[in-house]
Amino acid sequence: MTLDHGGETMPESGPHRPYKAPLFRKITFVGLGLINGSIARDVRRLGLAERLVGTARRTETLDQACALGLVDEATPNAAAAVRDADLVVLGVPVGVSGEAARAVAPGLSADAIVTDVGSVKGKVIELVAPYLDMRRFVPGHPVAGTEKSGPAAAIERLFENRWCILTPHSATDAAATERVATLWRALGSNVELMEPAHHDKVLAITSHLPHLLAFNIVNTADDLEGVLKGEVLKYAAGGFTDFTRIAASDPTMWRDVFLHNKVAVLEVIGRYIEDLIALQRAIRWDESDALFERFESAQAIRREVVRAGQAYKRVPSARYHRVNDRRQLSRNLV
Ligand code: NAP
Repeated sequence: MTLDHGGETMPESGPHRPYKAPLFRKITFVGLGLINGSIARDVRRLGLAERLVGTARRTETLDQACALGLVDEATPNAAAAVRDADLVVLGVPVGVSGEAARAVAPGLSADAIVTDVGSVKGKVIELVAPYLDMRRFVPGHPVAGTEKSGPAAAIERLFENRWCILTPHSATDAAATERVATLWRALGSNVELMEPAHHDKVLAITSHLPHLLAFNIVNTADDLEGVLKGEVLKYAAGGFTDFTRIAASDPTMWRDVFLHNKVAVLEVIGRYIEDLIALQRAIRWDESDALFERFESAQAIRREVVRAGQAYKRVPSARYHRVNDRRQLSRNLV
């Protein structure tokens, strides 16, 4: 199936297909970290925009993004950066989405589409609403990432064969949503539309809670370190190393995720604690069948995840490959 875009016939999905025409004249990236930097890399590689401009707070970030070739130019002046842009991508911690929207608003053209990549959707919509024309704001979340941050963390093909969830709200113009969807498909992602509140519930269990567990288990292990006399680090191999990798994720980003998806996260923490207590009880009372059934059902779920093509294994090159052997560089489902 194909989509018609600006007179060009575009493939609906699939990674690194050559696009005959740029999808946008000028894309401005607000925030130049892992996610926006990775989008910029692929937009340039695939020729999806004529000009790329970036903005962030620190000169160091701007210089680094230019030196890495992520953008053609960068300025700390957000309103100047978005002038004449037909697409603006907010890629900042979700807690400052409103601040970023307010900063770009005076420079936006009437026809500019604004999208974002925040890991939380309901609260971001609320934060940007006072500053943007909401008909042209398309909330988005690429479910891909790593534990690294900043411009130097940006990598190519981060979004290939991954989901990008768009959560248009009642005011969003369908044509704006379609243009943003076309960009994500060009980056190799599969696009799904979802209600913002539903997105926040789904991600609370599939991404936010697992990150919380990782942060917590690493700290608990560290608290036990005195008692275990260095053995936590010595025998860290196994599963614990993976928890430390996830726990290395950016504290600002994750603080904002939890504070801005409070209701859904508190709900899943409650459910998780109930299930953990059931396991604790089964261990205490030697309920061997109950433990076995619980572990067996978890094993079956893992098989399903692998079948759905969303699991990765570590290989000696320190890159990560899809368990079903399709090449893939990204590591976290976030
Ligand atoms: P990142 O690598 O830490 O980059 C954040 C960028 O935002 C930096 O360029 C930073 O530069 C800039 N920034 C921070 N505060 C700002 C402010 N108040 N105003 C303007 N710019 C500001 O973060 P990221 O991992 O790309 O995450 C960006 C967004 O993507 C977040 O909303 C996150 O929830 C979402 N997301 C992340 C992942 C992931 O795996 N990391 C996956 C999917 C979605 P300066 O410090 O110089 O301003």
